[in-house]
Amino acid sequence: MTAKKIARRDIADLLNEWSREFGVFVPSRDEGVAKWARWGGGDAGFLEWYRNTVVPPKALFFPPLEEMFSFQKDGDGYHVGQPPPTEDRWLVFGIRPCDARALAVLALTFKDGYQDPYYLARRKNGVLVGLGCTRPYESCFCTSLGISPTDAANVDLMLTDIGDDFLVEAVTDKGKELLSKTSLVQAATGADEARAEEAREAAGARVTRKVDSQGAHEKLRAGFEDKDFWERVSAKCISCGICTFLCPTCYCFDISDELVKKQGARFRSWDSCAFPLYTKMPVENPRREKWRRLRQKVCHKYEFYPDSFDVIACTGCGRCIRLCPVNWDITRVLSSLPAQEQLRLER
Ligand code: SF4
Ligand code: SF4
Repeated sequence: MTAKKIARRDIADLLNEWSREFGVFVPSRDEGVAKWARWGGGDAGFLEWYRNTVVPPKALFFPPLEEMFSFQKDGDGYHVGQPPPTEDRWLVFGIRPCDARALAVLALTFKDGYQDPYYLARRKNGVLVGLGCTRPYESCFCTSLGISPTDAANVDLMLTDIGDDFLVEAVTDKGKELLSKTSLVQAATGADEARAEEAREAAGARVTRKVDSQGAHEKLRAGFEDKDFWERVSAKCISCGICTFLCPTCYCFDISDELVKKQGARFRSWDSCAFPLYTKMPVENPRREKWRRLRQKVCHKYEFYPDSFDVIACTGCGRCIRLCPVNWDITRVLSSLPAQEQLRLER
């Protein structure tokens, strides 16, 4: 399909149009914290301040706390009710390419063997409208993971900022259907496409932080037992869990039942491998020391996930660097992994 364009001033009208058919979510500020919130009309002011959200869009698909189902207890035992309904049709506007990729990474886990009905239903019913990232943070390193900040690979519709307009490209059938329903878009010209290409190149060049993501796997495997290294790189971590809660590809969760008299519900809530109490298992937490827990975070992303799914479970979004209270930096850890040869000689 030929590219289209929409005027920046018409974005609010477009969101209003879509709101008649979809639950629309957009970047929003909640007491200064950038999160996702339901579009409530008004102007699309977020286009001016939005770089990326603190809370990633995984929270829309895999909420921090969700009721899985209710149940009742009587003389015959327990009776399980239906899960609470989710949005039938909903749309996320403005998702960044790194976070769209993260949703695809999470899907690998949520459909591996057991088909998680909650996550998969939200993915099936959801439409992703991507917004190319033209002002990446200093902490971003998506290009080292093979993701461009204007990558359209994991969205249904992609918008690229070209000044007074956005270039609009339908990537999937869902995206084509969305475009067919609005009169606010018009055909893009060759000059618009050239401007979009310039914007894409400039955005890619602004991602200056680099890591050797491909070399990490072998080094992590070789250095798994290098206690000195892991103790050194985890020394300042305070096990707060922020880097896992806000990571768009982390999915550890806990399950708990709440029962009041004979009426109860089962809840799923985010958990973190950074916590000493996590993975207590029947006997003990196998990662009692902090260095083992931080090693788990890094190896899970760059060694275990590639072993299981042939995909690195990090998108280089940089949240764990920007938001860590003690400036722990995964790219520094990856860059300081001892070379394999060196480890062999030391043994
Ligand atoms: S955010 Fe920083 S301090 Fe908190 S668990 Fe992660 S690395 Fe440790
Ligand atoms: S590990 Fe850090 S950079 Fe990678 S996806 Fe998670 S939060 Fe983003």
